[in-house]
Formats: sequence, C-alpha cells, structure tokens
Amino acid sequence: MASARNLCQHSDIDGIQCKSNDYILCPHCQLQLCLKHLNSHQDLLRSELFILCDDIDRVRINFDNLIFDSTNQREYLFKQLDEWYDQKINLITKIYAEKKQEIQILCLKSHMEFDIYKTKQEKQLKDNLIKQLNKVLKQKQIHIEDLNKMKTKLDYIQKGLDELKQLNIDIYFDNTNFDINIIKRRYIEAAKVM
Ligand SMILES: [Zn+2]
Ligand SMILES: [Zn+2]
Repeated sequence: MASARNLCQHSDIDGIQCKSNDYILCPHCQLQLCLKHLNSHQDLLRSELFILCDDIDRVRINFDNLIFDSTNQREYLFKQLDEWYDQKINLITKIYAEKKQEIQILCLKSHMEFDIYKTKQEKQLKDNLIKQLNKVLKQKQIHIEDLNKMKTKLDYIQKGLDELKQLNIDIYFDNTNFDINIIKRRYIEAAKVM
C-alpha cells in the first residue's frame, strides 16, 4: 500500500469514532466517511428535504388563503377615528361647561363693579358737580375758573357714563387648540377719583 488507510471521521452522539476505513468525502459535512455513514448522512439530508417540503407547502397554503381583508382594515381605522372623535367631543364638552361657568362668574363680578362705579359717578354728579353748579348759579358774577372746573368734572363723569354703557366682557376663540379666552375689562374712567 502506498499510504496508510485513514479511519472514517464519523462520531456518534457519545463521541465514539467509527472504526471502519474511510471511503469518500461527504459533501454534506466535509468529512471522510465510510460507505455506511455516507448513506446515513444521505438519510439525514433526505429527512431535511422532507421538512423543507412541509415548509414550502405551508407557505403555499398561506398564499392560497391570503385575501385583502378590507373589513378588518376599515374597522381598525374606524376604531381609531372614533376614539379621536370621542376624545375631542369630551374635551369640547368639558371646555364648553367650564367656559359657561366662567362667564356666569365674570357677569356676577361685572354686575357688582357696575353698581359700585355707577354709584360713585352718580355721587360725583350730585354731591360734587351739581352742588358746585347751584353755588355758582347763585353768584352775581361767573368766574371762568369755576366754569372750566365744572366742564372738566362733567367730562370725567361723561366718560365714566360711556364706559358703564359698554359691555366689558369679551370672548376670544383660538380654533387651533380649542382654547377660549374670556376677558373682563375694568371700569377705568369710572375708577378715577376727581
Ligand atoms: Zn456528511
Ligand atoms: Zn463510518
């Protein structure tokens, strides 16, 4: 013999190597094997092929059963849209109720301020300006200074009266973020003391 024979390189699960001489290189595992083990490796490949057949068949069946599920898709999207709608409706309902209450409170406050400043202005008119007027009316000569003072007083009172006639609560809508601002102004002119 030109060269010593090599042993089959197959080992069983316990790691015990085959005692037979090798015959050929197995293309599956790149080991030199005896004929018996070459055949057993061929059987391994055949069982892998059967598994592959099953996998291919499973994918083919999946394709056969695959349809465009328009109902499910639509329901899924509708559900999300409905959730968005409910959230927004709830939010708007909440803001609406809050703002109504805010208006109620501001109107009460405004009414109270109105009464206070109206009384104040009337008091300026009757106790101050009209008293002065009656005094001047009784005088023999009219002084320009008295006249100008009374004109200034009347001007202030008139401005206060004009303010009291106007609505002093405004509402502003911010449509981008559902925000509503309600602003009550104070009676500025009427608050001035002569
Ligand atoms: Zn092999
Ligand atoms: Zn062997």
